[in-house]
Order: sequence, then structure tokens, then C-alpha cells
Amino acid sequence: MQETFDLDSNPHTRLNILTGEWILVSPHRTKRPWQGKVEEVSADNRPEYDEKCYLCPGNSRADGDQNPDYKASFVFKNDFGALLEETPLASFNEADLLVANNQKGICKVISFTPKHNLTLPEMTLPEITAVVELWQKEFNSLAENEWIKYIQIFENKGDIMGCSNPHPHGQIWAQSDIPLEIAKESERQKAYYAVHKESLLSAYLKLELKKQERILFRK
Ligand SMILES: [Zn+2]
Repeated sequence: MQETFDLDSNPHTRLNILTGEWILVSPHRTKRPWQGKVEEVSADNRPEYDEKCYLCPGNSRADGDQNPDYKASFVFKNDFGALLEETPLASFNEADLLVANNQKGICKVISFTPKHNLTLPEMTLPEITAVVELWQKEFNSLAENEWIKYIQIFENKGDIMGCSNPHPHGQIWAQSDIPLEIAKESERQKAYYAVHKESLLSAYLKLELKKQERILFRK
């Protein structure tokens, strides 16, 4: 048995406290020379309004709907949503070998601003506040549907991420099941609380604030 343990140089497995899974970490590998692909920051010459963009005010979208001449943020149901509200809640099972459940959901798109050439951090504080208030409003109204068990608000950004439009926008997914990773994280947080009588994430935040190793910004 080894007496010393060095997180910075010993290959080790590390517990993901939210999922309970052990992840292999090889810190010594970061010292190897890198000659692979390096992404370049592409020059951004977007105009404030793009007549071909399906999110800019007044433009037509792929399904023929026309965007209003909006002045702040604007939300609509995704014309090509990954989840559909009209899906019946049905199951399929053949010999316990081919098994599937329908997944019902609502996917929405939020345009953060009418200006095609901005990104969220370039907007003014009141404009960003309006986006956050819209997130809250959408979350609360979706949560009123009894069949919705999980709501995720997120942003896919950049070409490499597969983002299909450079206009500043995000998405909301609401669905009829709790996704596997979220279910695992809830179980782990419940188990931690049962032992420590403190929430896992607040205890973890306290530890990180004490260690000061991974804190990038603190207000
Ligand atoms: Zn646009």
C-alpha cells in the first residue's frame, strides 16, 4: 500500500459525488506535447440584422411563421423540437428484449435580443435581467403541466457544439420523464443529506471556498 498520494501526478480514480461514478484521471498525461488540432477563434463580422436569420425580428421561420418585430427577448416553440407535446404516453415491449417508452415534451427557443451580432455577456445588465426573468416565467408556466417532470434551460453555442444559428439564443426542454443523470444526482444528494443533514452542494461549495484551488471569481 502506498503511503503518499499526489493528486497532481499519480494516476487515480476520482469519485463524481453527484453521480456516484468513479472517473479515471491521468494528471501526468497533461505534460505530453500536443501536436493535434487547435481551434482558432474565427473573426466575427455579423451584422446587427440578418435577413436570412430565422431568429431576427420580422423574419419568416422554416415552418412559415413570422417573428414579431420584437424589441427585447422573444420565445417560441421550436419548429424542429426533439420532443413533441402531441406524443401519447405509451410503451413498447417485445419479449423483454426490445423495450421502449414514449417521451412527451415541449421544446422552446428563446432569442435573447433582437440584435443578431450580440452574445449574452455583451448585453446590458437590464437586458440580461429580462432574459433571466423570462427563464423564470417560462419555467413556472411549464411546471404547471402535471405530466412535466423535468425542465432544462440551456444554451448551445458555437459551430463545434452543433449550434445551427449564430443569433444569440438558448433553449428550454420540458419532458415527461426525469433523465437518468438527473435521477442519479437526486439520489446521491438525498443520500448525502440523510447522513450529514446538510445539502451536498452547499457543503461542497464551503469546501471549495476554503481550499481556494478552483475559484475563478467571487463577488
Ligand atoms: Zn438573427
